[in-house]
Amino acid sequence: MKCIKCRGKAQIKLPRHNARFCADHFREFFYGQVEKAIKKEKMFSFNDKILVAVSGGKDSLVLWEVLQRLGYHADGLYIDLGISDYSLRSKKLCEDFAYKRSLNLHLLSLPDMLGMGIKGISRKTRRPPCSSCGLIKRYLFNRFSLEFSYQVLATGHNLDDEAATLLGNTMHWQTGYLSRQSPVMPSNHLSMVKKVKPLYRLTEKEAASFAFLNEIDYILEECPMATGASSLIYKNALNYLEQNSPGTKQQFYWGYLKKGKEYFSHAENGIDLISCAKCHQPTVVETCAFCQLLEKIGLEKITLSSNSSTI
Ligand code: SF4
Ligand code: ZN
Ligand code: ZN
Repeated sequence: MKCIKCRGKAQIKLPRHNARFCADHFREFFYGQVEKAIKKEKMFSFNDKILVAVSGGKDSLVLWEVLQRLGYHADGLYIDLGISDYSLRSKKLCEDFAYKRSLNLHLLSLPDMLGMGIKGISRKTRRPPCSSCGLIKRYLFNRFSLEFSYQVLATGHNLDDEAATLLGNTMHWQTGYLSRQSPVMPSNHLSMVKKVKPLYRLTEKEAASFAFLNEIDYILEECPMATGASSLIYKNALNYLEQNSPGTKQQFYWGYLKKGKEYFSHAENGIDLISCAKCHQPTVVETCAFCQLLEKIGLEKITLSSNSSTI
């Protein structure tokens, strides 16, 4: 098997592009796809301060690696969710990653800020763990970005994630979500940071290959709370289609962005964001969902301070 660029020994095969690459040309391909995503979708410039939401998983660490290699100003934020050993291990991987590359990693801890981890919060609020977790992460990443002067929040969502979300939204005809699904979520409130997904042109397998070739250590196990997530079922279905017809995922998602999304634009209207009476973050009701969650666990408000581990 030969690299299609240099005819040297190929290490990576990409059926969806009908291509094979040696390690160097695969890296070149990977950087090229991220740069294309950033430019095509006008995600950010070299003048912007970018915050990368890191979890210890491969996608977010790969994204951070690529952004700093391309010369962008990108810092990381890890949120310790207090999920026993899983959180300890994933935090350590993020710290080691940042230390080895002299990058700036901010740390927030739910047990420190809220007095408990996701399990305890879920019990007190009677919400499923992933629902509390999603709400808390969205809130903290957004508020932290603003309070610490980041212009953009970048997440490691890849093509598999986006295609699975699109399949789920289509299966249930979630027209509001369909109208908003995009690699770029612009800020539409004074207290809302712009959010971007620079890996949307690359698959999970490609991110794993990049991590392997660049010796990026990441947490291999799934979060113990992730049981029976429907997104995994959609991913498996898409993997089956992809195996039989390479390129299906990109045709589905990129095709949607190019040709399908506009048909759902009418579903976007009507949601006026206001500022939360307590914390001033965007909300559609007087007190935002995060402040309501705080009330349920007996807290009034929280202050964010970065426990940075750097250089
Ligand atoms: Fe949070 Fe659920 Fe993801 Fe675990 S699986 S990190 S609890 S959203
Ligand atoms: Zn080559
Ligand atoms: Zn609030």
